[in-house]
Amino acid sequence: MKEDTHRALGQIVAQLKAHLRYQKGLGINTLLSQRKTSAPLTLEATRSAIGDCTRCRLHEGRQSLVFGEGNPHAMLVFVGEAPGREEDLQGRPFVGQAGALLTRIIEAIDLTREEVYIANIVKCRPPQNRNPQPDEIRTCLPFLRKQLEAIRPTIICALGTFAAQTLLETEERISLLRGKFYAYQGAQLMPTYHPAFLLRNPQFKRDVWADMKMIREEYKKG
Ligand code: URA
Repeated sequence: MKEDTHRALGQIVAQLKAHLRYQKGLGINTLLSQRKTSAPLTLEATRSAIGDCTRCRLHEGRQSLVFGEGNPHAMLVFVGEAPGREEDLQGRPFVGQAGALLTRIIEAIDLTREEVYIANIVKCRPPQNRNPQPDEIRTCLPFLRKQLEAIRPTIICALGTFAAQTLLETEERISLLRGKFYAYQGAQLMPTYHPAFLLRNPQFKRDVWADMKMIREEYKKG
């Protein structure tokens, strides 16, 4: 019993450390959170608030700002990392090769793209598809949060390292994060591997399928 308590405390301390490292990486050096007082914006109002955004350097190379798309009342929201080339050209999330695989994943749990909502951590394509930088994430994330507040999904699926680590505010590896639900803004958040990673590493499809089955069960609860 004592050993169990010790182990549990050790895990909490490790998670707290990972969270603080993550916050520090984003340049956040305070533990105080900001209190929200305003009513949630609608998706349309959130899109208007973003406007023709020039808040970070990613606007310089973009063709389109990829806001997100799908059911404004979706029970399930998928969150990816950032638009790629095809998404930037079309102004829609997940429409390239990884998007085709995401569509198949959604259909494998008996849903359609129109029934769910799909968005990204950052809304403009990073040059040469490089990782989004901490200041770009810090600038863009409030808008994704507003989208989630407007949609109020019961389930969020974080696709890949960036989405999972950003939303859960941790530096823990995706391989350790995936396969479990986490409480997030009143929803259940399931991290899983990114479809682009699956295209390069198809042996991990089995894990994603296991995660998706858990999502399907949770979805059925309504
Ligand atoms: N990868 C992402 O993370 N998001 C997209 O929209 C497309 C590819």
